[in-house]
Amino acid sequence: MHPQDFHPENFARGAKHALDLEFYAGGCRLSLPVLLVRGAAAGKRLVVTAGVHGDEYEGVRTIFEIYRELDPRRMTGDLLAVPAANPPAFWNVSRTSPLDGGNLARVFPGDPAGPPTAAIAWYLDQRILACADLYLDLHSAGVRCLMPTLIGYHEPDAAARAAALVFGADVVWCHPSVAPGRTVSAAIARGMPALYTEARGAGRIHPEDLEVYTRGVRNLLRHLGILEGVPEAPPCRYHLRGDGNIDQSVAASRRGFLVPKVTLLEPVAAGQELGVLLDLHAEPLETFRAPCAGLVVLIHACPLVEAGEPLFLVTGIL
Ligand SMILES: [Zn+2]
Repeated sequence: MHPQDFHPENFARGAKHALDLEFYAGGCRLSLPVLLVRGAAAGKRLVVTAGVHGDEYEGVRTIFEIYRELDPRRMTGDLLAVPAANPPAFWNVSRTSPLDGGNLARVFPGDPAGPPTAAIAWYLDQRILACADLYLDLHSAGVRCLMPTLIGYHEPDAAARAAALVFGADVVWCHPSVAPGRTVSAAIARGMPALYTEARGAGRIHPEDLEVYTRGVRNLLRHLGILEGVPEAPPCRYHLRGDGNIDQSVAASRRGFLVPKVTLLEPVAAGQELGVLLDLHAEPLETFRAPCAGLVVLIHACPLVEAGEPLFLVTGIL
């Protein structure tokens, strides 16, 4: 069906619906998979997306598991999910789209007349995010980087903060501001509480991360009253605060072989050495230092780095 014809309220209650939203953009035929679980009774709607970056798999699997386990006859409200939000990138095992090089997490709110990635953003925002009472975007660190398993929210939004704490991740990250172009910034522009996750990534699914994500989605469904019961959320161990924009992270000015000197969530002082870039004669090319005091929340785990790639991100503690 064309995205313009998709209205979740038109689907039968007490049932699961799997469909594809199909459209053309930039001369390419695109198809967005949608999984809708319509509760038997009316209630709130949780919207969950995964695969906004095509090389992040924890969220895809989480949506599959939750979709299979839910019983719509026992639900008050709906789950609306897009398990692979950027299908060209997903099938290409890449963060960005092979069709136009677009990063889907930088082009919201998108453009229906634009290139494929912008058109996908437009339809996701207009037809999927717009249907949410609470929005969750499941990311992870992708193939080349490493991040702790965490849930993030926009600091001024009390509803998002409450939902983030209910999710039950060890690390909660609050952002004073959210850069434009993201799914979360699009949801915020709609005045809607929005959350996102990160995890270890590296192109595989750690069982503990899958457990945190699936338990977290169940917790949010309970938090919204869509599922019965109370959330099972252990208190978080780290409540971080700071800019989460990895475009602003410490980056290499040239290609080389990275030797990190810190580990994830390690406290560092401003100016402390984070790692060194070597050439192929083992000579140091570049030394990377912490721009501020805080905890390390991102490390480029693949030793080979290209110029401009994010290598380290340091953030503060709430
Ligand atoms: Zn991502």
